[in-house]
Amino acid sequence: MKNKKCPMCEKGMLLEVDNIVSEMDGYIFIEKGQRCTECREEFIHEKNAQRTIEVAKKLGIWPQPLKLHRSLSKSGRGLVLRIPSDLEKDFKLKAGESVSISKVGNKIVIEPED
Ligand SMILES: [Zn+2]
Repeated sequence: MKNKKCPMCEKGMLLEVDNIVSEMDGYIFIEKGQRCTECREEFIHEKNAQRTIEVAKKLGIWPQPLKLHRSLSKSGRGLVLRIPSDLEKDFKLKAGESVSISKVGNKIVIEPED
């Protein structure tokens, strides 16, 4: 098999390696992939990367999506926002609990109060 040219520097060749180290929140992952002989850029094989993501998710260190989309529903006196269940668990929110709502620029920030 002919080695592929590096898409980053377009000079080096990609060599198969099995010691790509990535660190996430203090956890070390060793993966198989390719490394460029020139710029040392590393490319993790898709299958390996996918597995690492799975493991990271199980460990709870994979970053959560930053934006969640929810629509507001109308209730008697105003609008109601449903908190996504993963955030509910993360912040240990309970019905009846108070939160503070503040306006920061064009954002609405909801903070749990304890
Ligand atoms: Zn390169």
